[in-house]
Amino acid sequence: HYWLRTLGITGGYVIEAVPPDEFQDFVFRLSLRGFVGANVTIPHKERALSLSKPDQRARAVGAANTLWFKDGELCSTNTDVEGFINNLDACASGWDRCDEALVLGAGGAARAVVFGLLDRDIKRVHLVNRTLDRARALADQFGAAVSPATWDALGELLPRAGLLVNTTSLGMKGQPPLDVDVGLLPPDAVVADLVYVPLETPLLAASRARGLKTADGLGMLLHQAVRGFELWFGRRPEVTSELRALVEADLANT
Ligand code: NAP
Repeated sequence: HYWLRTLGITGGYVIEAVPPDEFQDFVFRLSLRGFVGANVTIPHKERALSLSKPDQRARAVGAANTLWFKDGELCSTNTDVEGFINNLDACASGWDRCDEALVLGAGGAARAVVFGLLDRDIKRVHLVNRTLDRARALADQFGAAVSPATWDALGELLPRAGLLVNTTSLGMKGQPPLDVDVGLLPPDAVVADLVYVPLETPLLAASRARGLKTADGLGMLLHQAVRGFELWFGRRPEVTSELRALVEADLANT
């Protein structure tokens, strides 16, 4: 609504809860109901991919979070990739000079993160996950630059990581804490957390206290929304501090 208002575009953005067994019908009727596209979230991201024409990003990530119509055809993409990367660029430019990145978690969000890191030519991505098989499956998909590992390898991997990314739900409100010693990271490391409730996670607070550059989950959320808006309305909006303050106020009320 902020972007529609500031760019002077007549339009709307509404939230609808769609039960899984009604999702196909929802997608097929999207255009008939006057929508130019949609964001899709849990649990519909995989179905959205199969019901549309996905781009390379959505296929690589295995999930679509944005739908739009091109020449009457329903297309899909995954904007978490650029949300993550553009937020890092905005918060910690030069982050991609590192050789090795350490990613915690191997779920859907980790796929988008790994895709983005490899796309920016990070040479080695260590993928640490509670369930090693899940990390292995993701590493197999992305190739030799991605090394799967378990949580007990952290002591050895943290001192080598120029970038640490938390893609697990640990540290989120209502979830167990994330137990990682950021004191082991190199002094010029960058730390990103995808969790945005709370806004300042204990991981980010400890990293800032150590003087490390950080990128938070809300920044990623805002940056991932840019491309969807552009695809729907034909104008590329900006992530401004005013927008961030409005969303922070909204989050504080949830
Ligand atoms: P997901 O597919 O369910 O993956 C969850 C990950 O967290 C898995 O790697 C899982 O490990 C790990 N995990 C969960 N509980 C754990 C525990 N107690 N101990 C150790 N590991 C644990 O979820 P997702 O879609 O990737 O989302 C992950 C997080 O990213 C969520 O907090 C989500 O809100 C956030 N996110 C943020 C943005 C943004 O724009 N900021 C975008 C996407 C996602 P196992 O494989 O061992 O279960």
